[in-house]
Amino acid sequence: MSECIFCKIIKGEIPSVKIYEDELVYAFLDISPINFGHTLVIPKEHHESASTIPEHIAGRMFRVGSRIGIALKRELDMDGYNLHLADGQAAGQVVMHAHLHVVPRGVEDGFHWNWRQLSYPEGRMAEIAEKVAGRLKLD
Ligand code: 5GP
Ligand code: ZN
Repeated sequence: MSECIFCKIIKGEIPSVKIYEDELVYAFLDISPINFGHTLVIPKEHHESASTIPEHIAGRMFRVGSRIGIALKRELDMDGYNLHLADGQAAGQVVMHAHLHVVPRGVEDGFHWNWRQLSYPEGRMAEIAEKVAGRLKLD
């Protein structure tokens, strides 16, 4: 994907501050962080959607993301971290090269997810669980 900014970052055509790299993934500091240390973990292969990333690569993204989260906590003296992945514009994805956000968090960092809490009508939970479970095909 010649026009993709994250592919350009992987190729070194756009500068980035690297945190980690292996044969499958590249991790670098987000240019506009929620908190300092906010890192993006991306697959080296171009995938617009996280849902097309082969499992061994997606698994590596989450393993590396978790390890970076732990390192950020320890080295930046933070209290926790969020792993956040937006799949699709409806979910808030802006850059169309799938990426995992690793956001270091402090108890008093002043950032709050705008999380709403709906209530299920009678029977809807069971209906959803049956449909989704029926769709899953895991080894
Ligand atoms: P999204 O909103 O798609 O989940 O996240 C895209 C992220 O990429 C944003 O947090 C944004 O700050 C970051 N970003 C966009 N362009 C660049 C760039 O050129 N360099 C870096 N380091 N981060 C970028
Ligand atoms: Zn790309």
